[in-house]
Amino acid sequence: MNVSIGHRTDVGRARDGNEDSYLVQPPLFVVADGMGGHLAGEVASQTAIRVITDQYESDPASADSQLAAYVQEANRAIHAKSEESPDLSGMGTTCTLLFLDGTDAHFVHVGDSRAYLFRQGEMSQITEDHTLVERMVKEGRIQRNEAARHPQRNVITRALGLDEDVNVDTVDIVVRTGDRLLLCSDGLNSMLDDEEIRSLLESEPDAQSTADRLVERANEAGGDDNITVIVIDVGREDTAAPPPPPAVQNTDPGDRVMPQSEVDDEGPRRSWLKRLVIAAVVIGLIAGAGFFAARYALDHSYFVGATEDGTIAIFKGIPDEFAGLTLRSEEELSDITVDDLPENLRDNVEEGIKVDSLEDGRSTLANLEERAADIDSNRTQPKDDASPGGGGSNN
Ligand code: MG
Repeated sequence: MNVSIGHRTDVGRARDGNEDSYLVQPPLFVVADGMGGHLAGEVASQTAIRVITDQYESDPASADSQLAAYVQEANRAIHAKSEESPDLSGMGTTCTLLFLDGTDAHFVHVGDSRAYLFRQGEMSQITEDHTLVERMVKEGRIQRNEAARHPQRNVITRALGLDEDVNVDTVDIVVRTGDRLLLCSDGLNSMLDDEEIRSLLESEPDAQSTADRLVERANEAGGDDNITVIVIDVGREDTAAPPPPPAVQNTDPGDRVMPQSEVDDEGPRRSWLKRLVIAAVVIGLIAGAGFFAARYALDHSYFVGATEDGTIAIFKGIPDEFAGLTLRSEEELSDITVDDLPENLRDNVEEGIKVDSLEDGRSTLANLEERAADIDSNRTQPKDDASPGGGGSNN
């Protein structure tokens, strides 16, 4: 697989130094955007590049299985360094790594640098930003179009060096002739919106002129941050069969990355069909598990609660609803209602008092009946029989 590569880094127009570092060592490419006071950000991003390079060069043959480990090791090295020196304390860096193994493009990613795929006029972001605003978008707290201008858009939720361990995203896609890949630090995409980046990827003829033009445009738009771009044009001699849908993997099970990289005409349908089938199977499994849980609950659980008209009863099943279903049956009705109980017990009964067996249910019920009887006898006592000592000490 032939590739043509363009790359450029620039301090931008607002910063004193350039804390971005990057590596172009085909088939390995990395962008790292360092953060921390003074020189710390630079040290962090350079350390990431150096550790990754050292590991790669020590055993290039096993690279494709070790990429996540490279990044984890870089994380440990940066963290150790920041612990050793007060000047470097708290430093960190993003890291977006690409390893091109033939037509297999393996990405490992932490932070808010980005990888994009440009294919047949359309651009999609391969990596997911580890930022507060991205999380807010995912949780539906803000709209996607608000994210770019959000005051907290620079807050990163994951970076190398902040902790001894880090979760890394890994995304695999299959590239084809004519694809253009872009790795960049946020100095690019914070200055240019996706449409502007896409149109530059579309209009610029070669990889290096694209890299140059992207950096120039980000500077023209303000250049608020360091800007780093790597542009990789996938060569033309490869005529492989249509690629399978991308494999997706993420070391953090709670935070999966969905690549938005299927823009071909057959791939997406197949891939979505596959996802639908998987979703149906998963839903089926959950429903099945729920059914057995429900059956078990119905057959083995009892509680004392109230019927709709307030009559206290022993139920078989569980007081809670399960997926909108009521899972209980009345076993034995009592002669009392919730209103017959002292106030402090009513909520408990209405929520359902779980008991271990029908026998336990009966003794709980007997208890409640006694309490109701106590109240009843108090009520029937004549008013002037009540003890006068209780309330009159205030005068
Ligand atoms: Mg930056």
